[in-house]
Amino acid sequence: MARRKKIYEGKAKILYEGPEPGTIVQYFKDDATAYNAEKKAVIEGKGALNNRLSEYFMTGLQAIGIPTHFIKRLNMREQLVRQVEIIPLEVIVRNYAAGSMAKRLGLEEGTQLPRPIVEFSYKDDLLGDPLVPEEYIIAFGWASQQDLDDIVSIALRVNDFMSGVMHGVGIRLIDFKIEIGRIWENEFQRLVVADEISPDSCRLWDIETKQRLDKDVFRRDLGNLADAYTEVARRLGVLPAAATHATKPTLIN
Ligand code: UDP
Repeated sequence: MARRKKIYEGKAKILYEGPEPGTIVQYFKDDATAYNAEKKAVIEGKGALNNRLSEYFMTGLQAIGIPTHFIKRLNMREQLVRQVEIIPLEVIVRNYAAGSMAKRLGLEEGTQLPRPIVEFSYKDDLLGDPLVPEEYIIAFGWASQQDLDDIVSIALRVNDFMSGVMHGVGIRLIDFKIEIGRIWENEFQRLVVADEISPDSCRLWDIETKQRLDKDVFRRDLGNLADAYTEVARRLGVLPAAATHATKPTLIN
């Protein structure tokens, strides 16, 4: 098959032109980066795990009426998604203090917040994705007040869904990041959850042991990243084909 046209290559994914107008193929790489790409490694199996996990979360969101860009998974590493206009914001939802918030406010990591908090970073690697208040977002025209109201409402619904799914498998959703895209239908726009939802963009702690099952394993050298993601996938009943092939065939009478 002729190779498709590459549209964009990011830190963890490559986007190719899709088979039909308005579609894109998202290819999940094994590359891991942290601290604005200062730390880099190739983690075998990460791409396939994130492809599966993102499919699992996006289809779950769609099932409860939260629109996403996801169409279908194509193979181990690729999924077909709708082409969207990405709003240049990282939408972060926090349930417990961790990472940059814990540092900024001098809170112990794992402290429960009074309520879920939604915050925004401006997506710009050169600037290190700075935290921005809503007023900046509106003043610079990255999104309107109406968009922001809709984005907060989507983010909180995603949070409820993700927290519940994770709680069911003994995992605490500490915080996560999503990206939102616009899809134009004539002159009307619809906001959808885009990019990916995976342990690369969430903080996930085992409820009992507080073991990290997310990218902090890589950021902070806490062990094998692929093992942590495999554990999340195993608990959710989502594993890449290669891993499930290892099971014995069942005899059918
Ligand atoms: N996050 C992300 N991409 C980024 C920055 C943050 O996916 O470029 C996620 C991160 O994995 C965590 C949440 O957003 O789940 C909050 O991250 P934080 O602001 O604490 O930043 P960090 O500590 O990762 O620098």
